Amino acid sequence: MTSKVPTIVLDRLSDRAKQTLDVVAKFVEEECIPADPVFESQVGVGDARWESHPPILEELKEKAKKLGLWNMFLPKGHYKESPGFTNLEYGLMAEWLGKSKVASEAVNCSAPDTGNMEVLAKYGNEEQKAQWLKPLMDGKIRSAFLMTEPDVASSDATNIQLEIRREGNEYVLNGSKWWSSGAGDRRCALYIVMGKSDPHNKDVYKQQSVILVPSTTKGITIHRMLSVYGYDDAPHGHGHITFKDVRVPASNLVLGEGRGFEIIQGRLGPGRIHHAMRTIGAAERALEWMIMRANDPAKKPFGQLLSEQGVILEWVAKSRLEIDAARLIVLNAAIKMDELGPKKALREIAEAKIIVPQTGLTVIDRAVQAFGGAGVSQDTPLAAMWAGIRTLRLADGPDEVHLRQMGRNENKRAKDITESIQRQKAKTEELMKLWKTLPAEPGTRIRHASKL
Ligand SMILES: Cc1cc2nc3c(=O)[nH]c(=O)nc-3n(C[C@H](O)[C@H](O)[C@H](O)COP(=O)(O)OP(=O)(O)OC[C@H]3O[C@@H](n4cnc5c(N)ncnc54)[C@H](O)[C@@H]3O)c2cc1C
Repeated sequence: MTSKVPTIVLDRLSDRAKQTLDVVAKFVEEECIPADPVFESQVGVGDARWESHPPILEELKEKAKKLGLWNMFLPKGHYKESPGFTNLEYGLMAEWLGKSKVASEAVNCSAPDTGNMEVLAKYGNEEQKAQWLKPLMDGKIRSAFLMTEPDVASSDATNIQLEIRREGNEYVLNGSKWWSSGAGDRRCALYIVMGKSDPHNKDVYKQQSVILVPSTTKGITIHRMLSVYGYDDAPHGHGHITFKDVRVPASNLVLGEGRGFEIIQGRLGPGRIHHAMRTIGAAERALEWMIMRANDPAKKPFGQLLSEQGVILEWVAKSRLEIDAARLIVLNAAIKMDELGPKKALREIAEAKIIVPQTGLTVIDRAVQAFGGAGVSQDTPLAAMWAGIRTLRLADGPDEVHLRQMGRNENKRAKDITESIQRQKAKTEELMKLWKTLPAEPGTRIRHASKL
């Protein structure tokens, strides 16, 4: 499968990563993709959707462990718990995982647990790691990250209101959260909650803290699960949750009071990249379905295969181009993260976060169109894929917020750029003056001009 890896990154992969990539590709193609519909039917209907855990997933997890495919997302060199792959190497694996609904969880590399494990590995103390990181890394429990709130514009995290108040040896939490992804899963044991512990701090970026809350703590109510274009994403789910006088030991605070912003910044960098990497895989799968439909001899509108229509071939070609371009942007961000760390790769991470879901959606939409009515139905993976990837333009911050930051950073070059253009203009004026002083006869003028 390394034949599909862009040649410009091939030399950066270890032999072990190349071998593992082959194992991941085979596992996804032969085990996970065929299991996707089985997972759906095991989730069941009605309330049972939130009560059961599809057994096919546990079977896949066992197979994955035996193949050595587990927790590949934790990058080498940054975490002692890492199985030893770089962000680039994992990126290429995540592309395969993105082709299947169940693959990421089967290898314990699914959101939001990946970001949450990174938080615990990076900022948690030994006690917190033993209590929560260990079972998460073993795939025994699941977790949710609770930042977004229903009553405020949460894309600006300084707006977050949930109160975290210290009382003796405890913190008391009051407030509400929604879009708490993963909270529907009955194995979800841990909420990583962001709230305000110091609302009057003059530095708005020091008002927030992050605290660990066991999901069964008294005072927590899950009111409902939100749907995504009609999909409930059971048994994972996106919860709307309230906290009423929820008490947890003070030792559950992560890193310290007022460090919440620092933690969410650290959490989101690699997470955005993981989503982008998986999206490339989903786009590849959509293209595969589009090509299959375009060559289906049983379905020939106006007597021709769809692939005999120029416009359809153009969709195929454009999709190929756009996926390949987007992949290079993601891999570039991964390389930058490996070489300089996530903080120095913020621009590249933002580029991937913005461009990849848009590219994925464009490709999936073409595939939907090629299928006609079937494209929006449950008979292809395309409709669910589109709904899932559309949310990435909001989740981890809406596109506009990242674009604004990118625009501002790019705009910081204004002074240098203006000065450079002015220098070029001045030089042009100088050259033009000299040019005009040259003799008027055409032939001579060109000869002299070469001396400018
Ligand atoms: C499927 C899904 C899963 C999610 N999972 C989680 C999760 O697990 N945990 C969690 O905490 N959150 C989660 N979220 C929430 C997500 O992170 C937020 O929805 C997102 O950050 C936007 O916040 P908001 O919904 O409050 O929108 P608002 O902040 O109200 O923003 C609304 C819109 O305003 C526009 N806007 C905002 N800022 C600017 C700007 N500077 N310039 C121009 N336009 C702007 C954007 O178009 C934006 O979409 C999830 C969301 C979805 C859809």
